[in-house]
Amino acid sequence: MQIAIASGKGGTGKTTVATNLAAYFSRTGMDVSLIDCDVEEPNAHFFLTPQWKDEKKETVPVPRIDHDKCLGEECRKCIELCRFNALIWMVDAVLEFPELCHGCGLCTIACPASAIEESTRSLGISRVGQKDSISLYSGLLRIGEAMAPPLIKKVKQRALTEHPAPDVRLIDCPPGATCPVVEALEGSDAAILVTEPTPFGLHDLRIAVELLRKMEVPFGVVINRAGMGDDRVHDYLKEENIALLGELPHSMEAASSYSEGKLLIEQVPGYEKVISQIAQNIQNMAKSTR
Ligand code: SF4
Ligand code: SF4
Repeated sequence: MQIAIASGKGGTGKTTVATNLAAYFSRTGMDVSLIDCDVEEPNAHFFLTPQWKDEKKETVPVPRIDHDKCLGEECRKCIELCRFNALIWMVDAVLEFPELCHGCGLCTIACPASAIEESTRSLGISRVGQKDSISLYSGLLRIGEAMAPPLIKKVKQRALTEHPAPDVRLIDCPPGATCPVVEALEGSDAAILVTEPTPFGLHDLRIAVELLRKMEVPFGVVINRAGMGDDRVHDYLKEENIALLGELPHSMEAASSYSEGKLLIEQVPGYEKVISQIAQNIQNMAKSTR
């Protein structure tokens, strides 16, 4: 069962929900895989404090043109096929922009003169750590690397290969509703959207709901810091017939537990019950759609 935890914007408590769910499932004896797909700012490890076991450099293949073999202007097949504009015709030769390349390999296959060789671009690192029965996979994007999706794909592939059949796989998505989130959500049986009861929270929740509906991933909502804002998120969920999976109450204890990098279910009385309800509700949702 693969469950994604997403949010329309950063700072809503997405990682809080993901890590507490992982710890809760682990306590119930389940074999858990948690993939932190927020490769620009991974922080699940602060809460889970895993023992890191292995780190590896991740790269993506990029083309290098052999100008002696290239057929020149009358061909341009690679340029026409690259939908990321990573190859252009400049004066009298094909020019590569490796930073724009997604490593799909199409240009190499399509080149009639075998003029495209393979080079590599560094994406960053992936690593795996262990805490109790939780395997934590995470990535760290190279400084200066503009695209997160290729590294997210690598981290997910690594988790799927090394830990193919956990009892539950949790995906901690990056914030927002753009390509990195789509890449992270791919393959999930159900998703949890974490929001907060404020006008900003509602605005970004609406955008995330549109994305989930487009991707046809069943989802429900968790309200974090419940009680601090207004009722507009509740009203919206009712109007849109969206399941409310649970609410994490706003409290000073919860805020200080978060700032110290501690798990709510270990620190704040009452939160384990809420997390267990969320776990039950999302499992039921994922099972009913399989
Ligand atoms: S497809 Fe190959 S031969 Fe054609 S322009 Fe590109 S590199 Fe040159
Ligand atoms: S590998 Fe794909 S993305 Fe990269 S330059 Fe070739 S066609 Fe474009």
